[in-house]
Amino acid sequence: MRIGVLALQGAFIEHISILRRLGAEALPVRLPCELNSLDGLIIPGGESTTILKLMQSFDFFPPLRELAHDSFPIWGICAGMICLARNISNFDIETLAVMDVVVKRNAFGRQIDSFEAELPMPALGVKPFPAVFIRAPAIEGANSEVEILARLPDGTDVAAQQGKMLISAFHPELSRDPRFHSYFLKIAAC
Ligand code: GLN
Repeated sequence: MRIGVLALQGAFIEHISILRRLGAEALPVRLPCELNSLDGLIIPGGESTTILKLMQSFDFFPPLRELAHDSFPIWGICAGMICLARNISNFDIETLAVMDVVVKRNAFGRQIDSFEAELPMPALGVKPFPAVFIRAPAIEGANSEVEILARLPDGTDVAAQQGKMLISAFHPELSRDPRFHSYFLKIAAC
């Protein structure tokens, strides 16, 4: 299993080491030609404007849109979730627009309002998932093809799946719990 981690900016190294620990081959992706022969891609957290601008400059939009259209497994985390969303409600920027969700950027406030939460996530088993939110976005709306995977106690949706595409507002690479990465590997193996 070969998983690419988009390495234009943000927290890509952490994903590579977790994926390797789980037995997958994991490689940084810096050019569109490196998308060939992968079984899945992670778009990590970071700064969405920077990641999207670099994606534009390096011409990632057409191949990534095509891969998403062909049901290629892609997991967008935090800023990566913004990159995949069809629409950003409070920010005017072109995204890949491949996942049918409306996302609010910086939905929980500033860096200082970052927090952790034990989230029930039935897709990962009975034990709640330790979720780390860093200037996180939130899912404000989703169409019927999108399954919500995790919700905060106040009802805010923070992780979802559409086909083989995943999004999470929090950073599973910062918890010592590999279950979300294993879940993505399982999707990529199908
Ligand atoms: N607030 C960042 C953004 O809007 C996302 C933060 C993150 O990825 N941890 O791009």
